[in-house]
Amino acid sequence: MEALSFNRVEIDLSALQANFIGLQEAVGQKVEVMAVVKSDAYGHGLLECARAIYRAGGRTFGVAEVWEGVLLRRAGLDSEIVILLGGSPETYGAIIDHKLTPVVYDVDFITGLSNEAARQGKEVKVHLKVDVGMGRLGVLPPDVESYVSLIKRLPGISLAGLLSHFPVADETGAVEKTREQLSYFKNILAALQTEVAGSVIAHIANSAALIYFPEARLEMIRPGISLYGYLPDASPARAKTAVPTLQLQPVMRFVTRVVQIKELEAGCGISYGHTFVTRRKSRIAVLPVGYADGYIRKLSNRAEVLIGGRRAPVCGRVCMNATMVDITDLPRVHTGDEVVLMGRQGEAEISADEIALWMETISYEVLCLFGSCNDRVYIKK
Ligand SMILES: *Cc1c(COP(=O)(O)O)cnc(C)c1O
Repeated sequence: MEALSFNRVEIDLSALQANFIGLQEAVGQKVEVMAVVKSDAYGHGLLECARAIYRAGGRTFGVAEVWEGVLLRRAGLDSEIVILLGGSPETYGAIIDHKLTPVVYDVDFITGLSNEAARQGKEVKVHLKVDVGMGRLGVLPPDVESYVSLIKRLPGISLAGLLSHFPVADETGAVEKTREQLSYFKNILAALQTEVAGSVIAHIANSAALIYFPEARLEMIRPGISLYGYLPDASPARAKTAVPTLQLQPVMRFVTRVVQIKELEAGCGISYGHTFVTRRKSRIAVLPVGYADGYIRKLSNRAEVLIGGRRAPVCGRVCMNATMVDITDLPRVHTGDEVVLMGRQGEAEISADEIALWMETISYEVLCLFGSCNDRVYIKK
């Protein structure tokens, strides 16, 4: 039924593949690329995106939870799958059965998983997470050595990776902090050298770090947002200076259509609360999209849309399933015309970064929101 909706999110898998290949080329073939496809591939669709990236050469995937890894295995993906959030005791069986690689940071989880794997005569790979300043998941640096020796001692599990994560790699004002955290991580790796040499892959770079701190790429990078065509700091000029060859293309487009056009005199209130009143004789187009579709109320009297390659401002409040735009200055708009809420139309473009400014958030949240609220259509150009 959803395919009959007025609204749809279009996913350009060729753009996704081009972004993956571009990132791989930017870091060189010696650096493994873990494609981060958590949260339904940032709203773009887990299975479709993972398959497209696999066809483009991707062999390592990162998801948040165990169940996402299980979905990838059931779809036939035979790659390395790293579970970035790790798991709970209820997921030991699934981790072992599906050969998933959890990130670990907790003694009880590690010993429990070891017991279960050893009982079954199986071996599970794990990546140990270190917190070098994110203040989120991970063991603190003084505890790393004891965790490493615990994992090495226990049966049924083997240490295949050591990772960390940066909190401020996208901020121009915090370059020193990121450098410090990287050297902290490198010192930990150096101290463990004899124990982990050769068998353990080290990784710390998200999109921001792989672009702005080439020395942080190490043996593997973990791009998320850049795969989907956006920069973590919404700053194309800075990225162009950092990695001149890297060209990213947005993968998602969000479109609706005009369902009604009305001519109104000056002084007419539009939508709930009449927060917009026409100041002139106006033409208003009604769009069948609203906050139930992720086009949130914050966009009221703020956002713009594209019709016929031209911008039209949202007027009045965004409703649950309707939004009005002022098309007085646009020539020839007809009911049924395509309206682009996000993406390119002709020469014009509204990016997730621009919508993020209107919504007072970041592109990541815009993509997750639009992607999860709407029917997705996959296109290959
Ligand atoms: C989400 C995530 C990433 C990807 O971050 P981007 O900023 O989207 O590139 C990398 N590593 C970890 C641990 C993550 O949770």
